[in-house]
Amino acid sequence: MQNIYVLKSKLKSIDNKDYGAYQSLKGEYDCPGFMLFIDQIPKDPYAPPHTGIYRVQVEYDYVNAPPGIIDSKTKEVAFRDFLARNFFKATAKISKGRRGTGYSGIITLDEPGQAILERSSVIINSKFIEVRFFLGLPASGRRINSEVAEKMFFVELPEIVKLALFKENINMDSLKQHMKTAEDAEFLRSQLGSLGLVSFIADGAILPRESGTSDKPLDQKLAVSFHSPESLQVEIEFPHTGKIRGMGIPKGITLIAGGGYHGKSTLLDAIELGIYNHIPGDGREKCVSDPQTIKVRSYSGRYVEKVDISTFIKNLPLEKDTTAFSTENASGSTSQAASILEAIEVGAKVLLMDEDTCATNFMIRDQKMQKLVHKEDEPITTFIDKAKQLFSERDISSILVLGGAGDYFDVSDKVIQMIKYVPEDVTEKAQEISRLSPAKRASEDEEYSINLKERIPVPESIDPYNYYGKKSIYASEVYRLNFGKTIIDLTDVEQLVELSQTKAIGQALVYLKKYIDGKTPLKEIIDLLMIDLEKEGLDIISEKISGHFAKFRGLELAFAINRLRSLRTVQKK
Ligand code: ADP
Ligand code: MG
Repeated sequence: MQNIYVLKSKLKSIDNKDYGAYQSLKGEYDCPGFMLFIDQIPKDPYAPPHTGIYRVQVEYDYVNAPPGIIDSKTKEVAFRDFLARNFFKATAKISKGRRGTGYSGIITLDEPGQAILERSSVIINSKFIEVRFFLGLPASGRRINSEVAEKMFFVELPEIVKLALFKENINMDSLKQHMKTAEDAEFLRSQLGSLGLVSFIADGAILPRESGTSDKPLDQKLAVSFHSPESLQVEIEFPHTGKIRGMGIPKGITLIAGGGYHGKSTLLDAIELGIYNHIPGDGREKCVSDPQTIKVRSYSGRYVEKVDISTFIKNLPLEKDTTAFSTENASGSTSQAASILEAIEVGAKVLLMDEDTCATNFMIRDQKMQKLVHKEDEPITTFIDKAKQLFSERDISSILVLGGAGDYFDVSDKVIQMIKYVPEDVTEKAQEISRLSPAKRASEDEEYSINLKERIPVPESIDPYNYYGKKSIYASEVYRLNFGKTIIDLTDVEQLVELSQTKAIGQALVYLKKYIDGKTPLKEIIDLLMIDLEKEGLDIISEKISGHFAKFRGLELAFAINRLRSLRTVQKK
C-alpha cells in the first residue's frame, strides 16, 4: 500500500510522455477515507472501458450500516444495487466528462436500469465496500495529460467516493425502501406457485413506459394506473407494505384481447419483466411473474441447431428433418417453434406471446385456409391446437396477446379484454360466444405428445477465440454479443434489460465450458453454472476482476447459446 502522494509524484514524472507510461501507476494507494486499486490500465485512450480495472474500497463502518441490515441475499443484492446507483449519480454530478482523446477524463460505471440486479460493480463483505468503476486516463493524442489526471484522482474521485459511499451522504430511508421493495417483490414471486398464479399485477401500478426506447415510467399525469377486474382480484399480505390487491393471472391459458392501442402489449411487457424486482418509483414494484416466464417470438433469419420442432412442424419441403431441425436461416414459424422448444428444454413454465411479434401462420389457420391448403400440404400444427396439451402434459402456461383470433376463446381458461388501458374479465362472454358460434375451423391436433429432445453441446463448438487466436468477448449493445469469430444476435431475447447482463452472459459462455464434456445435456450445464453463480457470485465467471457484470437467468443464457452460430449439438438418446 502506497501513500497517495506517491501517485502524485508518479503523475508529475510522466506528464507529456507516451500513453504507455501510465502503466507505472498500477498499484494500491491509501487515500483519505478510502483505498484505491489500479489493477489494469488500458494501452491507449481509445481502449474500451472493460480493459481498465479500477477499484475503491471504503471501510464498512463508514457507511454505518446497522448490523444485521443485510440478513438476506435479496437485501444484500438491493444494498449493492443501491450503492451502484449512488455511485453512478455521483459520477454524473462530479465528473467533468471527456477531456481529450478517446475516453480521456471520464469517470463512470455501467448505468443501472429499472431492475434491482446483482451487480459486480459493487461488492460488500464484513470489512469493506468495494466499487469497481471506469476511469479514462487523459491524453491528447497519445501524450499523457497529468494535470487533468491529477484533478481526476485528487479532486473528482475523492468527491465521488464521499458523495456515493460515505455514511453522511447515504439516505438511509431510501436505502431501506430499496431493500423493502426488493424483498416484497421477492416474497410475492415465491407465493405465486402456492396461489396457483403465474403473474400478479398490483392495483395502482403504472405499466406504460416513457417511450419505446426508455424503460422509465410514463409521466403519472398521462398514465392510466392499473386496476384489476373484480373476478381476478387477489389480496396479498406483503412483509413490508401490508395488504395489497391486484390481478392474479392463474395457471393455464390466458388470452389478452382488446382493440388496437388499448394497452395489450403494455400489459404483456409488464408480465414479461415481472421476472425482475423493480426500483421504488418504477411503477411495477409489485408486478411479478413466475421466475421461469419467457417471452417467445418469431425472428426469421435466426440460427437453429438440431431442435426437435416436430410438435409444431412436420413434413417440410425436400423432406427436411424436423425432429432435429437445423438451419442458418429460420423462417418466421420455424424460428418461433424452435424458441418454444428451446425454452421448454431448459425449464420454461410460462410462455408469453404477442401478436405484434408472432408468425400468424404459427398461431392459427382458419377455416377457409384449411379448405384451400390441405393439412397434407401444411407442415405447421398451429399453436392453438397445442396450447392445451402444453399445459396438461408439461404444466406450461401461456399468456397470449391476440386481438384478431376469436377461435382462441375455445382453448383459453381466461380471457382478459383491455379497454382503454383497463382490464376486464370477459371469460364468460367469450365462452358464451364459443358455445353459440362453434369454431368453423377443424382442430388439427393429431394428439401426439409434445416432443422434446434434450441436446448435448459439442465442446469445440463454443469457442471464444477470434481469427487472430485471441479470446474475444465483448458487447456494446444489449442485444448483440461479440463472441470469438461470430456475433450472437439477441434481438429476440427480449427479457434482457441491461448491457451488463449481456457482458456477463459472454463471460459465462466461457466459464461453462468446464461443464461441457460432450456428455452433459444443455439444461444440466446451465443448472450447474447457475448454482455456482448463486454460491460464489458473479466474479466466478471471469478470471479478471470486472465491474461490468449483472445477473442474468439461465433461460437467457440458454437462448444466447442457441443463437451462437457455431453451436453444434448431439441429441440425447
Ligand atoms: P396494443 O398492444 O393494445 O395495441 P399498446 O400496449 O402498444 O397497445 O399501447 C398503445 C399505447 O398506449 C402505447 O403508446 C402505450 O405506451 C400506451 N399505454 C399503454 N397502457 C397505458 C396506460 N395504462 N396509460 C396510458 N398509456 C398507456
Ligand atoms: Mg400490441
